[in-house]
Amino acid sequence: MKLRPDIKIIEIASNIYARLHDNMTNSGIIVGDEGVLIIDSLSMPSFAKDLISDVKHITDKPIKYVIDTHAHWDHSWGNEEFNDVTIIGHQNCYLEMTDVDWNEEWRSKIVNGDDSWAKEANIVNITPPNLTFESSMSLYIGGRQIELIYFGKAHTSGDIFINIPKEKILFTGDVIQRRKIPYLGDCYPADWPHTNDKISKLPVDIFVSGHGDNGNHNDLVEAKTFINDLVNYSKNALDEGRNIKQATEIVIKTLSDRYENWTGFESLDEQIPDLIMKLS
Ligand SMILES: [Zn+2]
Repeated sequence: MKLRPDIKIIEIASNIYARLHDNMTNSGIIVGDEGVLIIDSLSMPSFAKDLISDVKHITDKPIKYVIDTHAHWDHSWGNEEFNDVTIIGHQNCYLEMTDVDWNEEWRSKIVNGDDSWAKEANIVNITPPNLTFESSMSLYIGGRQIELIYFGKAHTSGDIFINIPKEKILFTGDVIQRRKIPYLGDCYPADWPHTNDKISKLPVDIFVSGHGDNGNHNDLVEAKTFINDLVNYSKNALDEGRNIKQATEIVIKTLSDRYENWTGFESLDEQIPDLIMKLS
């Protein structure tokens, strides 16, 4: 199979693939007896087309399901390429994807940015899930249980986890990333630690994240600890009566001991003030 040089496809268990894209968004490919399930349709129709063409190298079975781990554009704006496919997401993911103001804010950020897909963002037909659920549901693909679980708000209001109990594989979207600072702009900092507590009780050997490398259970616990530390240090700084600027400096300084080498640590400068406002 000939892939773009920045893409790797790893078969992590029989018929379960992680498609990892450097500095971009990852997706999952699960092949069953009759069809294929895709986790995350990627950022733009052109990225979805590349994904679909890679799937054709793995199997000639049709794509039957797409799962949106959450509503962010870089995970779900490829949905329109999947015609006659069941697109599954959490009820809150549906609400976010049909929130016109929220999406137009994102669209204008992308269109006015300098990424190579800025123009394409203008013509994306944002396509929400056509099947939603509240707490959990299961699909049986190739005799294997694929469990879709919602544990509460975290990185967005509608993050779901795709759990494959037999192989102890979990697709985590952007909630859990391996040694990487997540985007915090749409997050729910008061809820996120509780959601993480529930995730960490799943018996996971390997997780595939929305961005970056696959991780093991230890990496999952580290990602959970980072969010706990971030939220606790922010709350402490507020309790001490610091203003946003002082609090941001203290939180970054305290976090740097343990997390300085994580990808995207430098983004915290810009990200933390907003997070502190949400907690105050
Ligand atoms: Zn996201």
